[in-house]
Amino acid sequence: MRYETVIGLEVHVELSTKSKAFCSCKNEFGSEVNTNCCPVCLGYPGALPVLNKKVVEYAVKAGLALNCDISLYSKTDRKNYFYPDLPKAYQISQDDMPICKNGFIEIEVDEEIKKIGITRIHIEEDAGKLLHGAGDEDYSLVDFNRAGVPLIEIVSEPDIRSPEEARLYLEKLKSILEYLEISDCKMQEGSLRCDANISLRPIDEEKFGVKSEIKNMNSMKSLERALEFEVKRQTEILLQGEEVAPETRRWDDAKSITIAMRAKDKTYDYRNFPEADLVPIVLEPEWIKEIKTNLPELPDFKRNRFVKQYGIPKYDASVLTLSKDLSVFFERCAKDYKNPKAVSNWVMGEVLRILKEREQEISNIKFPPEYLRELIDLIDEGLLNSSAAKLVFEEMFDTGKEPKTLLDKLGLKQISDEDAIGELVNEVLANNQESVEAYKNGKSNALKYLVGQAMKISKGKANPKMINSMLLERLED
Ligand SMILES: [Zn+2]
Repeated sequence: MRYETVIGLEVHVELSTKSKAFCSCKNEFGSEVNTNCCPVCLGYPGALPVLNKKVVEYAVKAGLALNCDISLYSKTDRKNYFYPDLPKAYQISQDDMPICKNGFIEIEVDEEIKKIGITRIHIEEDAGKLLHGAGDEDYSLVDFNRAGVPLIEIVSEPDIRSPEEARLYLEKLKSILEYLEISDCKMQEGSLRCDANISLRPIDEEKFGVKSEIKNMNSMKSLERALEFEVKRQTEILLQGEEVAPETRRWDDAKSITIAMRAKDKTYDYRNFPEADLVPIVLEPEWIKEIKTNLPELPDFKRNRFVKQYGIPKYDASVLTLSKDLSVFFERCAKDYKNPKAVSNWVMGEVLRILKEREQEISNIKFPPEYLRELIDLIDEGLLNSSAAKLVFEEMFDTGKEPKTLLDKLGLKQISDEDAIGELVNEVLANNQESVEAYKNGKSNALKYLVGQAMKISKGKANPKMINSMLLERLED
């Protein structure tokens, strides 16, 4: 029996508004515990919430960018449950009337465009954070700074068919939200959180199988790995003729397994009812239009523009535009430059390599993009060969200094002086008679060897193109 994987994702995104969703407390990550709180977000009796207009604007922005219908009329509801990090014992959310519906994201799978549907986007508030005692301490403390921080929850249709597609969907979603500048989308800090529903069904079967919900995946990689594990686990159960239990499972990154947390016999009844302390959200079509007009350029659009404007391959453009910061970096480098592909090669090669190696973000890079452009200019001018350029680049990355200064400091300036190259060539010809003979007898590979010898004597600083042409000149005499 062969099975098809069915995945749907629920993504919670913390919005980067200045204040919280329903009060004027600061919305800030990393503040001292319990300093950004007030009677509203602490759920004191009689305190009244007021909806932050920015939250609505950001949710509409997300909806428009994700091709959704925007509801002109929506409302908030109370989702009731008790938990120590939820002082009101209910969460303000949107139940049956979300602010955005029926959208989609396009991902590229095996060079084909695939649409993943978005069921809905709704506004809600975050809960506080439990700080569990370390070691012997048998208690937990609560930090309410996060209580009332605005969230949007983006729910996908069960259109995703593999762990890889799930990662591509989440990467694209994150990219779009970053372009919109409505969240910093840091999975490690919890401002972007993803839960996955996954089930298997026999191929050609329409009815969905029993799903499990996976939580606690805090990177793109762990999302993909957790789902891969789950596909394997569920396949084994089904092949043994048994049934998958409906449950919530937690991904353990260190052990690389999912662990059952709780059974999901039936959907938990949150007893949703309208939040009577807040008026319905009524939007003017004009306001939505204004937001739409002011949307920034989004990743897909930018990718196509890069292909057209800079003549780089589509693959390059996709890599460069997935991260907004990287796309800006590339563009500042490539602007008005005759060979954008060379810039693209540098950014996708050395820049991404070193960022990964040093575990840094492009936004924290020490040197301005124009310096990379200068470095490429130096190669073009024949002052630097490509292996020396990599050394200069690494130094530039670490110190933030200009490439010209580093060139002198590192003594890597390329030798392009004709007399000096001539001497070098003479020396190589005199000391390698055998290779010279071989070349004259038709072994063209001998030339490569001779160029290599000249580079070696010059400690890599000679201009290889000049060496090559001068050697050729003498040998053909
Ligand atoms: Zn507050």
